[in-house]
Amino acid sequence: MVVPELLCPAGSLEKLKTAILYGANAVYLGGQKFGLRQASDNFTYAELEEGVLFAHARGALVYVVLNSFLHDKDLEELPEFLAYIQSLRVDAVIVSDLGVIKTVAAHTDIPIHLSTQASCLNSYSGQLWKKMGVRRLILGREVSIQEAGKIKKATGLEVELFVHGSMCMAFSGNCVISNFTQGRDSNRGGCAHSCRFEYKIDFKNASQQELNAYFMSSKDLQGIRVLQEFIDAGIDSIKVEGRMKSPLYAGTMAKIYSDALRYYQQHGNFNSERMQYWEAELSKVSHRSYTEASLVEKAGQESIYNERETDDNPFSVAGYVVEVVDGEHLLVEVKKAFNLQHQLEILPFQGQPITFTLNRMTDFFKSEVERSRPSTLVKIPYIAGAQVYNLIRACHS
Ligand code: SF4
Repeated sequence: MVVPELLCPAGSLEKLKTAILYGANAVYLGGQKFGLRQASDNFTYAELEEGVLFAHARGALVYVVLNSFLHDKDLEELPEFLAYIQSLRVDAVIVSDLGVIKTVAAHTDIPIHLSTQASCLNSYSGQLWKKMGVRRLILGREVSIQEAGKIKKATGLEVELFVHGSMCMAFSGNCVISNFTQGRDSNRGGCAHSCRFEYKIDFKNASQQELNAYFMSSKDLQGIRVLQEFIDAGIDSIKVEGRMKSPLYAGTMAKIYSDALRYYQQHGNFNSERMQYWEAELSKVSHRSYTEASLVEKAGQESIYNERETDDNPFSVAGYVVEVVDGEHLLVEVKKAFNLQHQLEILPFQGQPITFTLNRMTDFFKSEVERSRPSTLVKIPYIAGAQVYNLIRACHS
């Protein structure tokens, strides 16, 4: 049974490793320049090299995001970066600007994926992009799964669609709200998520009261219930948004979507009990309410998240397993403090979380401790099934 590639965000080297170990087939990441996420921990040259080696050693692919709209001066600096990523043998670049496509084609033979920012919504536009040398279309989120399948057939190109994550309310991300509200250029990586803010509608008609609302904020996309449609339409790649989100997000998305796709490969269906488990796990990362947006039917008013954002998610990452000594202990790098008697969960790379109550903990100097401290190492009793790089999740409710 052919299932789509699962493409996950890698906002840092740590998140890259987490996503791949939890089941991502491919990751996308940005270098220090030329991408649309200036605020994420973009990769240095050394991190890029380590990340590509790590991914390729595990059969995963790495796509580098170059989707800013560049000015001439920015383009002058691009060939040097292209030569470097070509030498690393990255698997594709994600591009929106025609000038960048021309520069990539002139200096390298790296496959080009057209970014969603380029707003490709139809097969005629897809055919033109094909002539420009594009191998894959990352279609605008206004396109339904069914339309994407037709565009694939008509163009003969690979197609990629978003399956999960925060949504940009602007037309395929072409937005200048942050430029005017924050002095930051969205189209060169400066989006300040201004669409999530509360805005006031000041009616000209004095009889109507002013209205404060979050009317430009979108709910988050979740497409797990329509994976069957993705498969039926022959979509090549399903993409999870969120390079700036937490390692718990990176791990959970890769784990749950890869679990669902693997289940389908083995059974030819998506069992409804498993679906409830997958949805419950996906709700354990910070998110707004979920919507299927335009994946099946056109997104309407119900896809607007008209509420103040609160981070009331009780789950967080307590730490990572950095060493397993069979039958003796786990060495854990602490991300968020936890106490003795706290109930924690190991998230194995495959299979259900392993819940345990912490009854003993020592620090690096072998002293007993009652509470761990972030960015330190602690030893906790051995838990069967734990592996190096497993996330440890805590529930704070
Ligand atoms: S401000 Fe909102 S709509 Fe504009 S680019 Fe950022 S996420 Fe998209």
